[in-house]
Amino acid sequence: MKNETLLNIAKEFGSPVYVYDAHKIESQYKRLNSAFNKVKNVKINYAVKALSNISVLKFMNKLGAGLDTVSIQEVKLGLVAGYKPEDIIYTPNGVSLQEIEDVAKLGAQINIDNLAILEQFGNAHPDIPVCIRINPHVMAGGNTNISVGHIDSKFGISIHQTPHILRIVKNTGMRINGIHMHTGSDILDIEVFLYASEILFETAKQFKDLEFIDFGSGFKVPYKEGDIETDIEEFGEKLTTRFKTFCKNYGKELTLAFEPGKFLVSEAGYFLTKVNAVKQTTSTVFAQVDSGFNHLIRPMLYGSQHEIINISNENGKQRFYSVVGYICETDTFANNRRINEINDGDILAFKNAGAYCFTMASNYNSRYRPAEVLWYNDKAHLIRKRETFDDLLANQEILEFNNLSKATK
Ligand SMILES: *Cc1c(COP(=O)(O)O)cnc(C)c1O
Repeated sequence: MKNETLLNIAKEFGSPVYVYDAHKIESQYKRLNSAFNKVKNVKINYAVKALSNISVLKFMNKLGAGLDTVSIQEVKLGLVAGYKPEDIIYTPNGVSLQEIEDVAKLGAQINIDNLAILEQFGNAHPDIPVCIRINPHVMAGGNTNISVGHIDSKFGISIHQTPHILRIVKNTGMRINGIHMHTGSDILDIEVFLYASEILFETAKQFKDLEFIDFGSGFKVPYKEGDIETDIEEFGEKLTTRFKTFCKNYGKELTLAFEPGKFLVSEAGYFLTKVNAVKQTTSTVFAQVDSGFNHLIRPMLYGSQHEIINISNENGKQRFYSVVGYICETDTFANNRRINEINDGDILAFKNAGAYCFTMASNYNSRYRPAEVLWYNDKAHLIRKRETFDDLLANQEILEFNNLSKATK
């Protein structure tokens, strides 16, 4: 998006504010889709937890996406956004059997990653088809070395437990309609991902009633200059070939599914903050913005690097700044960054603010969560109002101590 457009949005809606470029979301969706255009049935299930605003979900629906959800609340948001239950896959970890049953009642596709739950669910609902999340024990390291096994992850059912799965399926009479993996690792090295896919295929061929294979996500997007991103086109070509061979041997055209979050929305997002003060200390120039890790926690939580630009001073001379927030503990967004000269009142734009930014925001320090704006068809649309003081009070039951009598024994 143009700096001028972002500046106007900050003027109109105030700061801090999240802005999402619908056109960028669309182009990412289409890019992924066309990388797999030789596969007959492709399903892209957008991972809601990355950015769960209803208007964004509706936009994804318009593009043709399904949803990947991790809680019953995300499933319900999807239904409110107009998705058909069968276009929603529910991939929880560590939730109660009760929640899984409640989601099954809503009609979403259930994905189970625990043997005990699988058995209980299969016994109670043998007629509801279930997908299984496996753990292929593949990890992509910092280099191309592949380490297999020895990974203690809480996610998925180990491939070494496949015989147990098969026994449960047989004993309960349940039907397994999908096989899934989500390794979480960045698909930097396509070969590593393809290797994991081979393990997925090996597992899949042991199940006779499959309708789809879900390859999860892990697509990498560039965060800073020089960052490597997944070569989607090459990836698409290679996986397509393998998938087609598998389907031929399996004897059925299955659906190939993905569930990207970051890939679809990260680069579409900008977080706009206003500089409250520039503070020079003996060693550092701090730019203090009207935000903190209550609004964008990724740099503090994961050490993520979000590029920061001064959209109020496009052509200014570059200087070094530490960009910090207004929270009463260290909340450093960026250390020693070259940014165009910053003055009080300037608007700074944080890039890659579409995924895992607003959805992780809180009210810490009793601050309001920011507004959200969707840029669509050359127009800025408010899709979430900034919170107000009433929101802070909303669920509080306020005690009047003078009127409270003691409990009598
Ligand atoms: C978080 C998550 C995703 C999305 O991951 P991204 O890195 O944002 O693409 C997909 N599937 C599952 C099961 C997840 O938990």
